[in-house]
Amino acid sequence: MARASHLHVQLVAHSQFHPPTDIGWETDAATDPEALVEFAGRACYETFNKPNPRTRSNDAYIRHIMEVGHLALLEHPTATIYVRGISRGATHELTRHRHFSFSQLSQRFVHPEESEVAVPKLIADDAELSQVFFRAIDNTRLAYDELLAALELKLRDEPNAVLRRKQAHQAAQAILPRATESRIVVTGNFRTWRHFIGMRATEHADVEIRELAVACLKLLKTAAPTVFSDFEIAALADGTEMATSPYVTDF
Ligand SMILES: Cc1cc2nc3c(=O)[nH]c(=O)nc-3n(C[C@H](O)[C@H](O)[C@H](O)COP(=O)(O)OP(=O)(O)OC[C@H]3O[C@@H](n4cnc5c(N)ncnc54)[C@H](O)[C@@H]3O)c2cc1C
Repeated sequence: MARASHLHVQLVAHSQFHPPTDIGWETDAATDPEALVEFAGRACYETFNKPNPRTRSNDAYIRHIMEVGHLALLEHPTATIYVRGISRGATHELTRHRHFSFSQLSQRFVHPEESEVAVPKLIADDAELSQVFFRAIDNTRLAYDELLAALELKLRDEPNAVLRRKQAHQAAQAILPRATESRIVVTGNFRTWRHFIGMRATEHADVEIRELAVACLKLLKTAAPTVFSDFEIAALADGTEMATSPYVTDF
């Protein structure tokens, strides 16, 4: 019997900043990534002495660069998020974002005993539809196991057992559903994360990738509160969440 997966996102890495010791500059930045953004900006004009009183604080400096659209500065810090419990279909949408780096669970090498699937909310909220959904998933899993056994038999003359299993799995996986649970490590700079959230956290995006975008935003708000402060999270009538920002104009 297949089980429903649940989205799980973890921030596993983000940039550290090591200020050059020979520059007389201090920052009140709350986080390393935000200190790095300010440093990169001040390095452009050698304004380490903070000549503009209105942008002396790190918070004011970052808000200013967002207002004037100096978003290249946000390309310096990066964050890495480990995502589990997401459908293979949603990771296909995620990997369309070309500035991220990805490492995804291999369906050829990793074969869980039990199927885990990401159930669309509209179906999960309805007992009858859930029954239809899981019946189809379980039938597919039966067919997958049957194909796998038949393929291994067909390939029995291949002496290399690892290669035999790999070939069998790569053929059988063709029938696995779009809902199959996947895991993926995603690294991106802050400009890329902002672009992803701007496109995928809106109410027009697919519900599953929107849930992912909002979950990532919440993590990024802890890693760099000012850089992501303009994104406001709101609840929709169906109980899901969305986020928008007045500054996401770099699409
Ligand atoms: C609501 C919604 C519906 C969608 N529906 C479909 C669909 O039906 N079919 C479909 O195929 N896709 C669809 N997509 C995916 C969409 O077309 C993009 O592939 C995806 O959102 C990645 O966004 P992106 O291209 O802006 O940028 P990213 O790859 O995230 O790149 C960020 C930005 O970098 C710049 N950039 C990156 N690469 C280039 C380049 N080669 N040349 C110039 N500039 C570049 C652009 O400014 C781009 O906006 C949909 C997306 C959304 C949000």
